Amino acid sequence: MPDTSSRPNSQEQFERACRSIPGGVNSPARAFGAVGGTPPFIQRGDGPFLFDIDGNQFIDFVGSWGPHILGHRHPAVIEAIKNALETGTSFGAPTVAESDLAELVVELVPSVEKVRMVSSGTEATMSAIRLARGFTGRSVVVKFAGCYHGHVDSLLVQAGSGALTLGTPSSPGVPAGCTADTLVLSYNDVAMLRQAFEEQGDLLAAVILEPVCGNMGCVIPTDEFLRTLRQLCTDHGTVLIFDEVMTGFRVDLGCAQTRLGVTPDLTTLGKIIGGGMPVGAYGGRAEIMDAVSPVGGVYQAGTLSGNPLAMASGLATLTQLRQTNPYDQLEHLASQLQQGLLKAAGDAGVPVQVNRVGSMLTLFFNEHPVTDLQTATASDTERFSRWFHAMLDRGVYLPCSQFEALFVSAAHTPELIDQTIAAASAVMPLLSDPA
Ligand SMILES: *Cc1c(COP(=O)(O)O)cnc(C)c1O
Repeated sequence: MPDTSSRPNSQEQFERACRSIPGGVNSPARAFGAVGGTPPFIQRGDGPFLFDIDGNQFIDFVGSWGPHILGHRHPAVIEAIKNALETGTSFGAPTVAESDLAELVVELVPSVEKVRMVSSGTEATMSAIRLARGFTGRSVVVKFAGCYHGHVDSLLVQAGSGALTLGTPSSPGVPAGCTADTLVLSYNDVAMLRQAFEEQGDLLAAVILEPVCGNMGCVIPTDEFLRTLRQLCTDHGTVLIFDEVMTGFRVDLGCAQTRLGVTPDLTTLGKIIGGGMPVGAYGGRAEIMDAVSPVGGVYQAGTLSGNPLAMASGLATLTQLRQTNPYDQLEHLASQLQQGLLKAAGDAGVPVQVNRVGSMLTLFFNEHPVTDLQTATASDTERFSRWFHAMLDRGVYLPCSQFEALFVSAAHTPELIDQTIAAASAVMPLLSDPA
């Protein structure tokens, strides 16, 4: 069992939370289910650091699962939220800040001519799927095994038995009817993609994917995979949706589509676009976006959509990113971490793969390259659990699952990366034996 004796208050609060909140958490990944033990309860964040209620300090590589690319409590973001707060919290009527943020998104993201704000990534992908179906008048949606698009019914699906079969629900409570029009393919598998389009291309409303995957751990698309996908969607009138909820403003100021040079028809955004407040968005070609109500017939709405505090936070975050352009700095810091982790593991004789795109990175305990869900799940998750807890005990806060990406922020420094590598160098030799 992991040692949680250094976190007695968190232990007590977790037991308390479990009595009134299912599993003690409001989102399942936080409960440490994959690695065992109990999570630290966070008292506050500051720049690259988290502080728990037991007085421990951590170097944070989770950043609230993505939003905090500027670190916690960035002064420009805090000030913008404070100013907005002075004027009220919600009006349910148009405000200028909504156009300010929309124009900035249109300026930065190549595929986006018009954009609709919602309050979470899940809402963004759910709405984009509905829009693609409404726009094309078709039903079938393609997704890739290992990509996560929020808890949308039709996308909570696993591959059926055998390739190219329609998916089956991956959660109780999702009726088979909800996933009957979802086709699950393997990430990076060009032959399977071609076959799907050959057989049913003219029935396909949309293909949705993470253009760099983060939700099976970081998995990098091949150039051939993305270009073939773009061409097939164009040829068949299928809407290509890049789910950039994680990669948007993370791997490039212009999102993954700029970095990779492939332009989708629709883009979903979340996480960084809210700068730590609840925001999601979906946008794309004006012709498609104008199919959304009130212009078009595809219904989608939200009482708190475009919320003034959330708009202020997102606008300050994106403005800061545009002004400071920290992406070269992030590339250097994350590359330093990647090299250091590879060396620490190599010196200890522990086989690992470190996949990285920009400041998104996953260390897989795996002898072979990780390119899709099948190769990702061949990783040694037991070794990952020991790694995770040993790093936490040394003050390094990593995502609590092998199948997540860590994030480096602009608040991290080369010295903090060195400290993290030093901790990894101390931990890796402890992992060289089987448990
Ligand atoms: C986080 C995430 C979502 C879901 O966003 P929520 O705000 O948690 O609903 C969707 N897609 C991707 C790629 C994500 O990383």
